[in-house]
Order: sequence, then C-alpha cells, then structure tokens
Amino acid sequence: MRVLLVAPPGAGKGTQGALIATHFGIPHIATGDLLRDHVARGTELGLAVQDHLGRGELVPDEIVLDMVRAAFDEAKHTGGGYVLDGMPRNMAQARALYEIGRGLEMTANVALHLKADDEELTRRLLARAALEGRSDDTEEVIRRRLDLYHEVTHPIVDWYASRGILVAVDAMRPAERVGRQILTALEAMRPLVNLVPEHARRSVDLTGLGAAFGTS
Ligand code: ADP
Repeated sequence: MRVLLVAPPGAGKGTQGALIATHFGIPHIATGDLLRDHVARGTELGLAVQDHLGRGELVPDEIVLDMVRAAFDEAKHTGGGYVLDGMPRNMAQARALYEIGRGLEMTANVALHLKADDEELTRRLLARAALEGRSDDTEEVIRRRLDLYHEVTHPIVDWYASRGILVAVDAMRPAERVGRQILTALEAMRPLVNLVPEHARRSVDLTGLGAAFGTS
C-alpha cells in the first residue's frame, strides 16, 4: 500500500499516518518529523531550516525532495509500501514526487485527504501547544501555516482527484473514529490498487459517511 496524506496542520496526519503504517506494516515517512529531528540534532540541514520551521514557512523544495528520495530508496528495499506524511505541500513538490515515484515504480495508490475547518484545527493546535510545546504552535504561526495550506497545498487535492486516487475523509471527528474509517476504506481498496490502472479509477468521498462510523 502506498499512501500520501494531504491535510492541513492539526488534522491528524501524524496520528493517522502512524496507524496506517502499523496496520499495513509499511514505513511512516513524516517530513516534519525528519526536519525537526535535524533541528534537534543541530545538523547542518537543521541549522539551515530551523528559521523556516519556527515561522511556519515551507522549507525549500529540494531539501524535502532529497529527504524523501532517500526514504523511498530505503522503502523500496522493504517491499515498496509507504505512508508519506507532510509531502507534497505544493504543486511543484507533487509533480517532482510523481517523477521520483515513477522512477522507482512506487507512485502513490491513494492520496488521502483529511478535511477539517480552521476553527477546529486552531483549537487542536493550541491544545497541543500546551502539551508538547512545539515552537510553531503559537497563534500567529498557526495562522500562517493554515494560510499557506489554503494557498499552496490545498490546490493539489484537485490534481489527485483528476488522477482518480483521491480518498477524502471527515477529520473533524475523534481520531479513533477517523482512523477506523480510513482503515476500512484502505482495506476495501487493497485488492484493487495493483490491478486497476490509475486512469480507470474514481475518487472516493467518504465525508458524508460519518454516521456509519460513529459521529461522536
Ligand atoms: P504541520 O502540518 O502541523 O504544519 P508538519 O510536521 O507536517 O506539521 O510540518 C512542520 C513544518 O515542517 C512545516 O511548517 C514546514 O516548515 C516544514 N515542512 C514539512 N514538510 C514540508 C514540505 N514537504 N515542504 C516544505 N516544508 C515542509
């Protein structure tokens, strides 16, 4: 299973990414975690990106693309599956990622879109700030991250829809219920992903199915 997560900050990419990775036994590649690890270790790359992270700005595309290329090379040797969390974040990254995937015969089977509104996202991120103290979880930086998501990240959702690999879920509900819906959808798709070519696929919108998976 090869999954991309496309979601605004606070929608639960990290939580759901970890769940999918555990369920399918595939690596969870989280660009934000990889970058924060470089910052924490004070590597050259970490020093180069720490201001971007602190301000909620995107780091240069080449940096994340190099990281993901290396992670994909590694994933290739462990069966070729992955769940990629935090990338792509703009159209240029989406196209470059597609090329990397084609080169390795590892293009994504599913682009999973987690939907939630800004008010709920801000509430979650401020709650997380109190617990984890991430330096970019301040009100001003959260605003910037959300704005950037709407301006440059969200437009890639349409591109995945037109390729027929988009699966949209309502991420406003508790994480456990969102997770159950995601795993149900991915399990249902599992037998098809390697058999049905992308151009013959249709996107799936599960956002209206909340009640079937519990609404509270
Ligand atoms: P969130 O989605 O909550 O902002 P992430 O952990 O995915 O959290 O990302 C944290 C920060 O890492 C981003 O604000 C950005 O500075 C940087 N980052 C992560 N992934 C990318 C990427 N693909 N391209 C550019 N910058 C990235």
